[in-house]
Amino acid sequence: MGGPGSGRWWGYRKKTCVEDCRKLDISLLRQKGFLDPPGAPGTASWGDNASVSIKTVMGDRPYLRMAYSITRHGEREDFDYRVPLVQVARFSDRASWLFACPFCGRRVGKLYLPPGRKYFGCRHCYNLTYRKRQQHDRTMDRYKNLPPGALLALAQELMDELKGPHTTGKLLKNLSLAMKLQKAALR
Ligand SMILES: [Zn+2]
Repeated sequence: MGGPGSGRWWGYRKKTCVEDCRKLDISLLRQKGFLDPPGAPGTASWGDNASVSIKTVMGDRPYLRMAYSITRHGEREDFDYRVPLVQVARFSDRASWLFACPFCGRRVGKLYLPPGRKYFGCRHCYNLTYRKRQQHDRTMDRYKNLPPGALLALAQELMDELKGPHTTGKLLKNLSLAMKLQKAALR
């Protein structure tokens, strides 16, 4: 474990994880009373002395005003911009709010500021992943040194087993492993 190349396995390059980003969560804003009733200014802060001043502004086009500064290599840069807020109707709930991503307009509940970036954006725009998805799949450990041909043969065996009587559990297990083996063989 560790050492050069430990960030890669099966030829997969690591993406930035949401866990490494600063996060702005609409449900937290709501809990803290920024949205209901709206208008109170406040601050969202993170453990590392970083914070963002936020204020919700309602009206025809509600938005969240965000102001913060980023200092990098001794140079401070100030940011002050708006993120549109959209109200969505929910069953048996008061209307709830979502952000409209400043880049793509997608309605999202969370915005992220990845390390080294300047603006908050959605998970899709920054191509973020979740750490749990990057965790190593141990079931594949035992097959990792097999050549592609052997992986495909094993996948075929698993599929052949399903021609006989089988339970749903077995079906799912075999299918999932066969797919992983095929994927690994293609890499
Ligand atoms: Zn986006």
